[in-house]
Formats: sequence, structure tokens, C-alpha cells
Amino acid sequence: MYSFLRFIHSFLLLDLLRGLFLTFRSMFRSKHTLNYPYEKGRLSPRFRGEHALRRYANGEERCIACKLCESVCPAQAITIDSVEREDGSRRAIRYDIDMTKCIYCGLCEESCPVDAIVQGSNFEFATEKREELLFDKQHLLDNGDRWEEALSANLKRDELYR
Ligand code: SF4
Ligand code: SF4
Repeated sequence: MYSFLRFIHSFLLLDLLRGLFLTFRSMFRSKHTLNYPYEKGRLSPRFRGEHALRRYANGEERCIACKLCESVCPAQAITIDSVEREDGSRRAIRYDIDMTKCIYCGLCEESCPVDAIVQGSNFEFATEKREELLFDKQHLLDNGDRWEEALSANLKRDELYR
């Protein structure tokens, strides 16, 4: 009986028809693929991409050179030098991140008491030379100025959980 049913199954090409039906049905469904880089998916506000140094609204750098991020970084990718200002506060005169060492753990961002160093949504910063991945303070501040709106919106969306 079983072999007879198998014969009917094969004779009527049921497997083929089932496959064709699946193909036909998929033609009318929404696509799961994106035409990257022209289309991009949604990213979480917690996405850990390229770093940025933020400023206050009056242009003052947020970083107070406390070096918490430098000490917590497991990859030892951050190097900070600081000076004392006339008013007794500290200021970073050097803030380098070696992005070839960074493991994107997010600990620098989490340790920062003033939300100065943050990780933005940009993940498209592949370079041809290793040297281009040695970010200095100016590069990080420029990132912060460019993305401030998005960075502060991400921090605001996440503040309940911090
Ligand atoms: S994300 Fe992690 S590894 Fe990268 S600089 Fe920050 S603390 Fe270091
Ligand atoms: S970025 Fe934040 S944690 Fe790092 S030195 Fe500046 S204030 Fe301290």
C-alpha cells in the first residue's frame, strides 16, 4: 500500500507542485533582504559603533579627563593626557583611541560620568591603512559635533535603563 501511494505521489509530481506553490506564494510576500548600502536596517540605540566625544550646548568639552575610560578599557586602546586649567579643573589635551585594538565592549561609554565618550551608530568606517584607525581627540570631537543630535536622542531613549 505504502509503495503504491509513493508511486502516485511521484507520478503526480506532488513535490514539484508543492515547491512551485511555495515559490509563487513568496513572490507576493515582503522581502527579507535589504539592498545594502542603499537600504539600511534599523539599529538599536545601544548599538556600539564608532566613538565620539561630546560637548555641552555652549561648546565646552564634556570630558574632564578623569581617565576612568582609560583605566576600564580592557584592550588598553585609550590614551589620555591632561592639564590643569586656571580654574583648577582638568582638561584632556590628548585623547587617542587605537581602533585596531578596540573590541567595542562599550565599557568606556558606561564608565564615563559625564557622557563625554559615547559610541554612535556608524559602523561604516573601514579604512585602507591601519594608521587611519588611530583616532585622535579632534577626530572624536568632530564625530561628536556631527552626530550630537542622534547621540543625545539615543542616550535619552536609554536613560531609564542606565
Ligand atoms: S569600546 Fe571597549 S575596547 Fe573599545 S575603547 Fe571602549 S572600553 Fe576600550
Ligand atoms: S571621556 Fe569620560 S571617563 Fe573618559 S576621561 Fe573623559 S570624562 Fe573621564
